[in-house]
Amino acid sequence: MIVTFLGTGTSQGVPVIACGCEVCTSADPRDKRLRSSIMIEGDKIVVVDSGPDFRQQMLRENVQHLDALVFTHEHKDHVAGMDDIRAFNYKQNSAIDVYADERVQAALKREFPYIFAENKYPGIPQIKLNNVDDEPFSIGQIKFTPIEVMHYRLPVKGYRINDFTYITDAKTVSETEKEKIKGSKILVINALQKQSHISHFTLAEAINFAREIGAEKTYLTHISHRLGKYEDVSKELPLGVELAYDGLKIEI
Ligand SMILES: [Zn+2]
Ligand SMILES: [Zn+2]
Ligand SMILES: [Zn+2]
Repeated sequence: MIVTFLGTGTSQGVPVIACGCEVCTSADPRDKRLRSSIMIEGDKIVVVDSGPDFRQQMLRENVQHLDALVFTHEHKDHVAGMDDIRAFNYKQNSAIDVYADERVQAALKREFPYIFAENKYPGIPQIKLNNVDDEPFSIGQIKFTPIEVMHYRLPVKGYRINDFTYITDAKTVSETEKEKIKGSKILVINALQKQSHISHFTLAEAINFAREIGAEKTYLTHISHRLGKYEDVSKELPLGVELAYDGLKIEI
């Protein structure tokens, strides 16, 4: 399977609107970060989270088909772009499977009431909701094992697929959930910035977490402009830990 990083930025993206800092004005394409999302291509094509940049990400990667959307949590930087799955509805002439837990499903109904209206306006997105709980589920041959991490007080879903684990908005992870992650060869984990933050891992916390899990390779994502430039931060990282960047593709 191929995993493509569609976006690796925190909620504001990088550059940040009206910011003139050295990261936001960097010419390095690896310092341009859309809101965090990945695409998994196996026998099905699945996107995890559809933030405000979903349309741009689909265009950039020339995505021709989408089977399912899987959500981590309901924050705007992870759900705001869901309306744009319409393009795939029209092309495929079918509803798109959406996987989310009960709380996120309720949020989607609040955020996009017209999608769930009794008398639907023509041309709106067509989705088929599928419930995610603690149990693994499969989309085609791709098996997703949900992992619960804490984003301050909000439980957020991470997902393990074989030897690959994707976690995007974590601050704390319980011992039980860590056991579900251990053995992963590739780990993706959030690292916001160096300064401490109430709901996100700092760079040091992410590196410690990577060590604890012991994956061969750890990619950091959900990055703020405050973390620093790709080139500078890369020099400070231990062996086996790298910053992800938009457009990066890995084989899992
Ligand atoms: Zn986020
Ligand atoms: Zn900036
Ligand atoms: Zn969040």
